[in-house]
Amino acid sequence: MANYNRILLKLSGEALAEKDKTGISYQKLEQFTNEVAQVVKKGVQVGIVVGGGNIFRGVQGAKRGFSRVRGDYMGMLATIINALAFEDQFESIGIKAKVLTSTFMEPYAERYTRQRAINALNDNYVVIFAGGTSNPYFTTDSAAALKALEINADVLLKGTNVDGVYSDDPKLNPNAIRYDEISFDQVIEKQLRVMDLTAFTLCKENNLPIVVFDIHTRGNLLKIINGEKVGTLVS
Ligand code: UDP
Repeated sequence: MANYNRILLKLSGEALAEKDKTGISYQKLEQFTNEVAQVVKKGVQVGIVVGGGNIFRGVQGAKRGFSRVRGDYMGMLATIINALAFEDQFESIGIKAKVLTSTFMEPYAERYTRQRAINALNDNYVVIFAGGTSNPYFTTDSAAALKALEINADVLLKGTNVDGVYSDDPKLNPNAIRYDEISFDQVIEKQLRVMDLTAFTLCKENNLPIVVFDIHTRGNLLKIINGEKVGTLVS
């Protein structure tokens, strides 16, 4: 029996690129899709929010003189490119997938409505939510928290480049400790970075548990679904 019936997986755009590169790594795309396919085959309903940082980030654009709002639009469009790549890859391995976008994007994909998402999930489609929240100044972490709540996901799984939540930046501090479990309040008290604060607050206020885990390690997603301790559980 799977530990969760319906999950929302947030995949950072950064994880989709080769190390220190931009764009889409076909190898990573294939790997992540296969990871998801394993849990779909277990009967778990999967929604995915994919980031766009592998292509463009509004904040970084603004540092180079772009207008922040237009840069954010570009970032949100980047998430749609990533989402279409996932949709295609899922189909190529025989897993039904559907991109739903936060803005009109026909004919590339259908616009998101909750009912469309729920129907597709119940029909065992992997639903890929693209276009972020459609608002500048937000991130795809916020889109992930919103979508997880809207579709009544049991958990928000944040698949990223680090293997959990640490007491300090593990790259800078070799003594940083990794938590297996931590409460929402402790995260706030210790000022730890789990996801952006807007997204985190939304999860906390609505009691939506978060698991932060390393998406690059094969089998991690399935282990989480099977109830094994992987990454950090925030609840
Ligand atoms: N973005 C936005 N509003 C949203 C979601 C995303 O403006 O609701 C823009 C923002 O510029 C962001 C970029 O899209 O930097 C890519 O998203 P994000 O940085 O969250 O992607 P990730 O870090 O997960 O790759």
